[in-house]
Amino acid sequence: MKALIIGGGVAGMSTALALHKAGIECEVFEARGSHSDGVGAFLTLAVNGIATLRMLGLDIARVPGIDTPRMQLMVSDAKPLTEFPLGPGVATVEGSTIGAASRGASGSVTSTGAGGSAGGAGVGAEAVIAGAASSTTTRTVKRAELYGALRARAEELGIRISYSKRIVAADSTPEGGVEARFDDRSTARGDLLIGADGLHSSVRGIIDAHAVKPRYLGLLNAGGYVHPRALSAGAAARDGDAARIGGTDAGPRAQSAAAVRWGDEGVMHMMFGTQMFFSWFSDGEGGVWWFANPAMKREPARGELAAISAGEWRERLLRLVEGDAGPAATIIRSSDELFAPWPTHDFAKVKVWSRARMIIVGDAAHAAAPSSGQGASMAIEDAAVLALALRDSGSIEQAFAQYEAVRRPRVSRIVRQGKRNGSGKTPGRFGRALRDAFLRRMLARPPRERDQSWLYEYPLDWERGL
Ligand SMILES: Cc1cc2nc3c(=O)[nH]c(=O)nc-3n(C[C@H](O)[C@H](O)[C@H](O)COP(=O)(O)OP(=O)(O)OC[C@H]3O[C@@H](n4cnc5c(N)ncnc54)[C@H](O)[C@@H]3O)c2cc1C
Repeated sequence: MKALIIGGGVAGMSTALALHKAGIECEVFEARGSHSDGVGAFLTLAVNGIATLRMLGLDIARVPGIDTPRMQLMVSDAKPLTEFPLGPGVATVEGSTIGAASRGASGSVTSTGAGGSAGGAGVGAEAVIAGAASSTTTRTVKRAELYGALRARAEELGIRISYSKRIVAADSTPEGGVEARFDDRSTARGDLLIGADGLHSSVRGIIDAHAVKPRYLGLLNAGGYVHPRALSAGAAARDGDAARIGGTDAGPRAQSAAAVRWGDEGVMHMMFGTQMFFSWFSDGEGGVWWFANPAMKREPARGELAAISAGEWRERLLRLVEGDAGPAATIIRSSDELFAPWPTHDFAKVKVWSRARMIIVGDAAHAAAPSSGQGASMAIEDAAVLALALRDSGSIEQAFAQYEAVRRPRVSRIVRQGKRNGSGKTPGRFGRALRDAFLRRMLARPPRERDQSWLYEYPLDWERGL
C-alpha cells in the first residue's frame, strides 16, 4: 500500500511518521520550497499531542523551545487573578463562560484555561488545578523548529518529501488507486491520498466541491520576540509600564536590564486588556515571547495585513495597550522581531472528510481556533489514529470510516471549546466591564475540580490498536 500525503506541516509529517511506523509506504508533497517554512510564530503543544508525538518517535523535549507548564490570568491592571498548571486536572466554577458573561448571560463555566498559542493561547475563565502527575510538560516551540524536527526525523527514516508540489487536482485511477496532479504539471500515483494541506486545503475541495469555507472569528494574531539584548533599563524606566510585571510591584528604577523579570519562568501570562488580549512569557534568558489578539470585525482581504509595515503594526498595537498596566507596551516597543498579524479561523463542521481513496486530516478537516491550544495536537492524534486504522482494518474504506468515527466527536468538542475561549477576547465596552467583573469574581473563588482527562489523556495504544 502506498499513501500520497499532501502537505508537509504538522499533520502531514506526523502522518508520514505514523504510516512508516505502521509499515505503510508514503511520500509527502509540500507546496512550499524546502527552506521556506521559517514562519516566525510559535505554538504550544499540549501534553496529549506531546505524548502522541513521542509514540511516533519524536521527543519534543529535544526540540528547542520553552517548557510552559503554568498559566496566569489577569485583566488590565495586570494583577494576577489566578495561576494554574497546564495539563491534566482541570477545575471549574459555577457561573458563566467568558463569552456568555460578556453578553450578560449565565450558565456554567465550561471553557478551559489550558493550552497556549502563538497569537491565541487557550484561555478561559476556568481555573486549572493540579491533577495527576503528567509524564509530559506543555512546551512552546517555534513553528520552524517543530516542522524542521519532524522533517529531519522523516528524512532519517528514508521518507521521501517532494517540495514545490502544490496539488491542483486528484482523481481515481482505473486500477482503483488515486492520481494527484500538481501545479508544475507533474503527477503521482498511490493507493490512497491524505490531504494534510491545512486550513485552506485544496484536497477538501477536491473531495467535496461544496465544502464549507473557514469561519472568520473576528480576531487577528500578532506576536514577536524580545531578545535579551533588546531590553534595557532605559526602556523599562522610560515606559514605566514594566513596574508591575505579573503583579510584582518592582518599580521601573529598580529594574536594571539584567534584573528585568518578565514573570516567572514557565508561566504564560495572559492579560485580558482594555482593548486587546495580550500574552507573554519569559524565555528564561532575559528575553520574552509574546502574542496579542487585536480585534477586527471584518475579515481582512487577502494580502491586506501583510501590506501594512512592521512599524505601523507596532504603533497600532501600542495604541491598543495604552492604559493597561504591566509590561505590554515595553515588550511591544522592545521587540526586535514582530510578526505581522494574520486572521483566525475555525470550522463549525466540515461535513465530508473522505471520498473514494481520499481523506483529510488536521486543520484541513477540523481547524480549531488558536485559543483551543490544541490544533497541532489534534493533527498529531489524527495521524496516529489514521495509521492504526489503516494498519488494522480490512480495507481502506473501512479504515477511513473507523478514523472518522473515532476522531469526529473529539475534534468537534475541541473546536467548540476553542471558539468559546476566544469569545472573551472580543467584548465591546459594556461586555468588557462585565467580563472583568466576572473574571475577578470567579477566579477569586476556590475552583471546583473537574476531570479533564478526556482532553489530556488520549488513550492511544500502538500495540493494541484502536
Ligand atoms: C495564530 C495561530 C496560533 C496557533 N497556536 C497554536 C498553539 O499554540 N497550539 C496548537 O496546538 N495549535 C495552534 N495553532 C493551530 C496549529 O497551528 C494548527 O492546528 C496546525 O498547524 C495544523 O497543522 P496542519 O498540518 O493541518 O496544517 P499546517 O501546519 O497549516 O500545514 C499545512 C501544510 O500544507 C501545505 N499546503 C497547503 N496547500 C497545499 C497544496 N495545495 N498542496 C501541497 N501542500 C499544501 C502548506 O504549505 C503547509 O506546509 C495555531 C494556529 C494559528 C493560526
